[in-house]
Amino acid sequence: MSLLDDAFARKIAAQKRAWEMTHDQDKKEHVRREPAAPKMGICDKCHREALVRPFRSRQADKMDGAASYGTVIKHFCEECAPKSRAQKDAEVPQLSKKQVKNLMRSAKKGLL
Ligand SMILES: [Zn+2]
Repeated sequence: MSLLDDAFARKIAAQKRAWEMTHDQDKKEHVRREPAAPKMGICDKCHREALVRPFRSRQADKMDGAASYGTVIKHFCEECAPKSRAQKDAEVPQLSKKQVKNLMRSAKKGLL
């Protein structure tokens, strides 16, 4: 390690901090776009009280004779929730008990 390398490493670290500060806003924005947490409500499809999540759907509604086109928010329970292709792809197979145990063990190791 020469002095030059050290100065370079510090410069990189400073740039990284600056990047994180300037992009902090973006991160918050990203978090807000995450799927909303389920909450108790009435499902718009089966009309049962259940844990529902809001879903955006584009559709044309006819209300009082006037048609309105746009995006509406529907609340669906887990059973009625429409699954997007991305969500289906993101679905992970159920972990076996052994796999969960291993995960817990490595998580504990990481904390210590
Ligand atoms: Zn439902």
